[in-house]
Amino acid sequence: MINVAIDGPAGAGKSTIAKAAAKKMGYIYVDTGALYRAVGVYSLRNGVDTTDGEAVAKTLPSVSVELKFQDGVQHVYLNGEDVSEEIRTPKASMAASHVSAVPAVRQFLFDLQRDIAAKNNCIMDGRDIGTVVLPHAQVKIFLTASPEARAKRRFIELQAKGAKDAFEQVLADLKQRDYNDSHREVAPLKPADDSVLVDTTALTLEASVEKVIEVIKEKL
Ligand code: C5P
Repeated sequence: MINVAIDGPAGAGKSTIAKAAAKKMGYIYVDTGALYRAVGVYSLRNGVDTTDGEAVAKTLPSVSVELKFQDGVQHVYLNGEDVSEEIRTPKASMAASHVSAVPAVRQFLFDLQRDIAAKNNCIMDGRDIGTVVLPHAQVKIFLTASPEARAKRRFIELQAKGAKDAFEQVLADLKQRDYNDSHREVAPLKPADDSVLVDTTALTLEASVEKVIEVIKEKL
């Protein structure tokens, strides 16, 4: 199977770019952040403090997370319920960032990710795909952009959904998540040694997709 790993910080455009590139290449697109988000949402719903790693780990036996692909679109199921919308709130983003630092959570989601990659030609995006989950992926891309550019994209996305979050708050949240993600002990966000860096700060969406496809084709 062909596996393309795309890692990078929040808001770099990973999901939009990876989705478009996967469609063009005929691969499935796997958004692993959705898995961490689903685990975070379970804690939020059940009043579990997401910064309390032990408490979060204790929820895992009651959690079942599944990814299903409908017309090439990924849906995430939490205990049988489609939570694809609910996982996208700013609260769920921060909860995901917290629970993702818990080793038991990463372990819990590891096999699921490996299994999908073993069975499908896919582009998988996340934070540790090239470094930990798929160290043998044929193509590894580290996608990044300046914090301001990333916050601006997130802000526009949230506004389109009718959310009222202020730009400064979106930028602050994003910087906090960057910090959490790159400073945690297990599987911190960092480029794999053999990854290709793609900076999308000055690129349009179309140009970013083209660039990513170019890297994939070159590597294959
Ligand atoms: O990519 P997304 O913003 O949806 O990810 C949400 C959170 O899940 C990230 O901030 C990160 O903490 C965590 N995550 C992770 N490893 C991945 C994917 C996401 O730790 N492979």
